[in-house]
Amino acid sequence: MASVLVVNSGSSSFKYQLIDADSEERLASGLVERIGESTGHATHDTPDGHWERSLEIPDHAAGFAAMLDAFKQHGPSLDEHPPVAVGHRVVHGGARFFEPTLVTPLVLINIEDLSDLAPLHNPANVQGIKAAQKAFPDLPHVAVFDTAFHQTIAPDAYTYAIDADLAKRLRIRRYGFHGTSNKYVSGATEDFVQRPVTELNQIVLHLGNGASITAIDGGRSVDTSMGLTPLEGLVMGTRSGDIDPAVLIYLQRKTRISTDDLDDLLNQRSGLFGLSGRKDMRDVISAADKGDESARLALEVYLHRIKHYIGAYSFELGRVDVIVFTAGVGENSAVIRARSLAGLEQYGIEVDPERNDQRGGGIRVISTDASRVTVLVVPTDEELEIARQTLSVVG
Ligand code: AMP
Repeated sequence: MASVLVVNSGSSSFKYQLIDADSEERLASGLVERIGESTGHATHDTPDGHWERSLEIPDHAAGFAAMLDAFKQHGPSLDEHPPVAVGHRVVHGGARFFEPTLVTPLVLINIEDLSDLAPLHNPANVQGIKAAQKAFPDLPHVAVFDTAFHQTIAPDAYTYAIDADLAKRLRIRRYGFHGTSNKYVSGATEDFVQRPVTELNQIVLHLGNGASITAIDGGRSVDTSMGLTPLEGLVMGTRSGDIDPAVLIYLQRKTRISTDDLDDLLNQRSGLFGLSGRKDMRDVISAADKGDESARLALEVYLHRIKHYIGAYSFELGRVDVIVFTAGVGENSAVIRARSLAGLEQYGIEVDPERNDQRGGGIRVISTDASRVTVLVVPTDEELEIARQTLSVVG
């Protein structure tokens, strides 16, 4: 029974899942973290149980050794479920990678070359790929890019109106992220509306700690709120989203803030956290419910930005058939879903309060039967999408 190993590497950790190639059943998952610290930590989950242990994990290669050890000790046996390929999540594929790609030495160089655009992610992804190649030298390794799904966006939507030569030289343009999640959830809607994805116009709200919104026309991304980096667009847990770029110039002139501090301010100390001191949406909602003014305003700014983009993307698409909510906030918060779409009845968007309040694991409709636009909650599954795309490359 063939399987696919899916790996998502960070600089000091990696997550993995072993997925059955036919049934798409999750055979095991795990997390190896605190790589390089004095004591590392590894967890391993199978349908039979959960294991964890602390051990020294000096580098990613040792992390993969710990993972293999966990498979040996706790199963499932990799001999009985031989992986046919390893699929790797890679954050930035630039304009070069528009589909899942078999990793070759040249591909690795190209991913490394894109590190300027994703300094926190691409080097860590490369580190993970190299270590996994050592652990599984005979298997094909496939890179699945978070930006790839958005490579269908046309120049009018991806071009920033700045000096064209400078932008070209430094590869400054909109790339978009959360592409793997968007591909998965937009594909999963078709059974629910019983129309092929190629006929559907969709708006996907990926609302997690990072958040983005994407307009999808017939399965192709035509616009998305994240840009050169995952900072643009919606208000997020700790990221500002859209901001007048002159604010940064003003801040630099006024406070002489360094580039690193500016980066930290916009990526780590803004968004819900900057406005209310809380980055977890549950905390923001509960504080707002208790009358906290800063939390209430944070929520209103968050919702205002969502509505702004739903309006823009509705006009860009011309017709909207499906609106999808996904990721941590989108899948779990009935309040955010209801308030994001409140008052849009005249545009054919009508949320059913009872359906919206129901909790459930799978895909579900939360719009009324009369609503022209079908509103869905679709739990995202990036690992499964990576496994599928990996298999599409290796056959
Ligand atoms: P993700 O990045 O997709 O893991 O999503 C993380 C975010 O989901 C965090 O900000 C959580 O606060 C949020 N979240 C999870 N459960 C809920 C919930 N029941 N209500 C509101 N937000 C939630």
